[in-house]
Amino acid sequence: MSVRKILITGGAGFIGSHVVRLFANKYPTYTIVNLDKLTYAGNLENLKDVEKKSNYHFERGDILDIEFLNSVFKKHEIDGVIHLAAESHVDRSLHNPAEFANTNIIGTLNLLCAAQAAWNGQFENKRFYHISTDEVYGSAEHGGFFTEETPIDPRSPYSASKASSDHFVSAYNNSFGLPTLISRCSNNYGPFHFPEKLIPLMINNIINSKPLPVYGKGENIRDWLFVEDHARAIDAIFHKGKVGEVYNIGGNNEWKNIDLVNLLCHIMDKKLNRREGTSAGLITHVKDRPGHDLRYAIDASKLISETGWRPEVTFEIGLEKTVDWYLANTTWLNNVTSGEYLKYYTNMYQER
Ligand code: NAD
Repeated sequence: MSVRKILITGGAGFIGSHVVRLFANKYPTYTIVNLDKLTYAGNLENLKDVEKKSNYHFERGDILDIEFLNSVFKKHEIDGVIHLAAESHVDRSLHNPAEFANTNIIGTLNLLCAAQAAWNGQFENKRFYHISTDEVYGSAEHGGFFTEETPIDPRSPYSASKASSDHFVSAYNNSFGLPTLISRCSNNYGPFHFPEKLIPLMINNIINSKPLPVYGKGENIRDWLFVEDHARAIDAIFHKGKVGEVYNIGGNNEWKNIDLVNLLCHIMDKKLNRREGTSAGLITHVKDRPGHDLRYAIDASKLISETGWRPEVTFEIGLEKTVDWYLANTTWLNNVTSGEYLKYYTNMYQER
């Protein structure tokens, strides 16, 4: 395969920035185009080390703007897409489902249309790779693991919007022959994670001695994967995955939320030279999220057997790296939490 001009959407977000970094560094002969609207979750500060590279380009814009998408495909002669742009936070989806439907479903459909128009039936050496989530499978509360054959059963507006976008991607493969790939990954953690999500939220609140909100009893179980391992899996699937297929990605690393928060408290007490138990004293049980899925659990054996990918970073090392990164990057943390960052970049990159 000689795909060389890759459009990465959502490249200024958490996972997207790691994917952009990996591709820009590992494939110096590729053109990497990062297309991002820079919502509250998008932050070019995540890519400071990449932005000077000659193979990297940034296009600020909205996947809801089809003319803009067509122009980007044309301008950069795009022959591969890795689509991460999305509204990604379940809690926000409960308050504004329509925004999730627009961005995640219509945005994905627009991107499919733009690829179809640009490639015009010439699909050799082309790839349209859609990044999805294990949440589309619903809750594995009765045991077992999600495989690629597990029926889709989304239960939050976020997962419903992602499931719908997955179906559109499959439909474009089936109906028009668009060379698509889909992957569904479990929960990611690591540097540059916006501090509304569990792990960075807890780290930030521990640093600031603020209450640590845990939904219900904290019994919900999630499988956790270090974000750089997800980026490596995306690389493996983009280059070695079979067109038309779905791949699960997971860390085989299940944790109850309450156990994870206690572990973080323990690590942070040591790092901050606080008395053991200081941070755990901040844990506050709050009313559970409506429709909160009890357990997500991924079987990633198809990906492992077909591509040779495996997670490389243990949870112990990954958490330590993550905590160290947040402690060393308090300016980043303060900027994204104060909203200053968004204002700054809105001024720098005028709205189109
Ligand atoms: P994120 O919220 O950190 O980043 C999303 C990015 O998309 C941001 O940079 C944002 O500016 C951009 N964006 C949003 N709306 C846009 C629009 N209309 N046009 C252009 N850009 C837009 O999300 P993330 O956690 O990095 O997740 C990336 C992808 O991976 C998402 O599709 C998500 O569903 C999926 N995913 C995430 C996880 C996880 O644990 N975070 C797990 C599995 C799958």
